[in-house]
Amino acid sequence: MNNVQGIVLRSIGGFYYVEAADMVYTCRARGIFRRQGITPVAGDRVMISTKEDGTGMLEEVLERKNVLVRPPVANLDVLVLVASVCHPRTNTLVLDKMIAVAEKKGICPIIVINKSDLGDPTELEQIYHSTGLECFTVSANDVDSLIPLRQRLAGQICVFAGNSGVGKSSILNGIDPTLELSTGEISEKLGRGRHTTRTATLYHFADGYVVDTPGFSSLDMEQVESISKDELADCFREFEPYIGQCRFIGCAHYREPKCAVRTAVEAGEIAQSRYDSYVSMYEAVKDKKEWDK
Ligand code: GDP
Ligand code: ZN
Repeated sequence: MNNVQGIVLRSIGGFYYVEAADMVYTCRARGIFRRQGITPVAGDRVMISTKEDGTGMLEEVLERKNVLVRPPVANLDVLVLVASVCHPRTNTLVLDKMIAVAEKKGICPIIVINKSDLGDPTELEQIYHSTGLECFTVSANDVDSLIPLRQRLAGQICVFAGNSGVGKSSILNGIDPTLELSTGEISEKLGRGRHTTRTATLYHFADGYVVDTPGFSSLDMEQVESISKDELADCFREFEPYIGQCRFIGCAHYREPKCAVRTAVEAGEIAQSRYDSYVSMYEAVKDKKEWDK
């Protein structure tokens, strides 16, 4: 027996596929995890004891950077949010909700504006450059335009999200043609409905990993609802310089007079569409009580 560190690529039916030192071991988990209420998930960094026959035992789950319940995945570094200029046109509210979830979970959101060959990306660029978030304008049809994004994702655990048809599979394949999935398979998996069992699988991608998980394309709205009204403003990073400058302590930046955030929106320092998303999300959670969560 040999103890090594690895990463869970996939968990299915009580088995964990753990990659360690270029091998994939089929592991079982010790009963202690169940008793401690820990469920190992894809992305978990773990210690395993291995046997010569390629099986192993999961001994320890190392500290997580973050974990999502649905889809079950841990240690995501980057959420790549793909938006397209047109066909389909991007709904900024949906995008802003996903950004907020990533911010809350400590996953770095990256905006990718795709299909720049089909339309003018300026409007989306202006909105998202003003947030201070990392933003890449690409065309999946132009492989060279994907190089900076590929460099950014090297060595990371990332997941791609965005509406169906925005070009996720095309970008994935453009960045890394060796990706084990065919385009059809990716879209089929990402497009699967909410009634299928949710699993998440890590695939080698751009010297790191990409998570493929059914239903991630629109991210579970329950995660959005789990952001409380007190946390919401912190999920809009460009509000940060203004917070604390409002007239009222505890200002919700909603309808309060002399709100520094609203003043910044009027001055064009914060994008109107971002503020509109904030208001829409705030209205959805403002009457929720702590115990409803
Ligand atoms: P997904 O559903 O997000 O995975 O989107 P796909 O990658 O399947 O792309 C949807 C359609 O848009 C396909 O017909 C692609 O060929 C096309 N497409 C994707 N990216 C681009 C792009 O940058 N420019 C153009 N013109 N078409 C694209
Ligand atoms: Zn305010």
